[in-house]
Amino acid sequence: MFTEEELSRIKEYLKPSKKIVIITHHNPDGDAIGSSLGLAHALVAAGLSPEVIVPNDFPKFLKWMPNAKKITIAEYKRRKASELIKEADVIFCLDFNTMARIGILGDWAERSRAIKVLIDHHQMPDAFDFVYSDTTIPATAQLIFNFLQAAGYRQFIGTDAAQCLYTGIMTDTGGFRFRSTSAETHRTVADLIDLGADPAFISSSILDTNTVGRLKLLSIVLGRLQVVCDGRVAILSLTRDELKEYGFQKGDTEGFVNYGLSIMGARVAAFFMEDLYEDFIKISFRSKGDTDVNQFARKYFNGGGHINAAGGKYYKGLSETVEDFIHYAEQEGL
Ligand code: 5GP
Ligand code: MN
Repeated sequence: MFTEEELSRIKEYLKPSKKIVIITHHNPDGDAIGSSLGLAHALVAAGLSPEVIVPNDFPKFLKWMPNAKKITIAEYKRRKASELIKEADVIFCLDFNTMARIGILGDWAERSRAIKVLIDHHQMPDAFDFVYSDTTIPATAQLIFNFLQAAGYRQFIGTDAAQCLYTGIMTDTGGFRFRSTSAETHRTVADLIDLGADPAFISSSILDTNTVGRLKLLSIVLGRLQVVCDGRVAILSLTRDELKEYGFQKGDTEGFVNYGLSIMGARVAAFFMEDLYEDFIKISFRSKGDTDVNQFARKYFNGGGHINAAGGKYYKGLSETVEDFIHYAEQEGL
């Protein structure tokens, strides 16, 4: 948590006269949107007018969140996003650890004279003016809850903020299943339910969102499932043509990689997907226990993330990428 002194310095910027901006990472997920909107709702309740900006659009299954429609999506509203960032007094940077992860927003933010406040749980954060980073906490939304409490803003966590923060924690913990889910996480979630979060509604809004196209893509992924390294490493993949054939929508492949990890004896799962427009392969890694896919993604695949969930990009064709992956996996003894 920020020190008392840091908190009071940050609170100097939480005044109606100040322009407050909240930004989060590229391809925003439930935690990115949940923590950003959760913080925004609490600040609105405190009488402030924060603006949430994301680099690009986010999946439909997150659009039900209160005020999701008010988010400025920089890929569609470039001028508005850059103006807001340029004129900001304070920029909250949520759920990412380096400006390099937010594309053009990072350049604008770096040039803005605003103070930058990082609240995040990814490994090895860059330097910001204020940093609250805790890699042992499963979701940035949980850190936002801690921050609001420490700042004396608990009374500003209304139903909308609680719904958003709960969503962030639920999605980033894989439904409270991942290893970093702690008693403290459950206590936070219990508080959020007291404050108005509705678990059944949120679960259904997030999970009961399959489309025929998505299930067809899943059937292709499972049909081509491969295991290497004596069954410890599962490989899944999709080509651009397959994505096109089934009308791929943002978020459609969310969670596919977990099927690999659900195989008995699997320690690592890797999901490779050809980008729809550019010539690179987007990769998602998941692992169990001490197997560190963050290090692996950093070392070989221009990426990073967390010990058990990371991602990266690779600039070769799909089959070459998979071949290289198998080579590196064997080399690292995965
Ligand atoms: P996902 O597989 O869900 O896209 O990403 C899993 C985790 O890895 C996320 O926490 C995300 O921050 C991180 N991650 C995904 N792709 C990249 C990447 O290209 N670079 C870095 N540094 N991290 C990534
Ligand atoms: Mn997160």
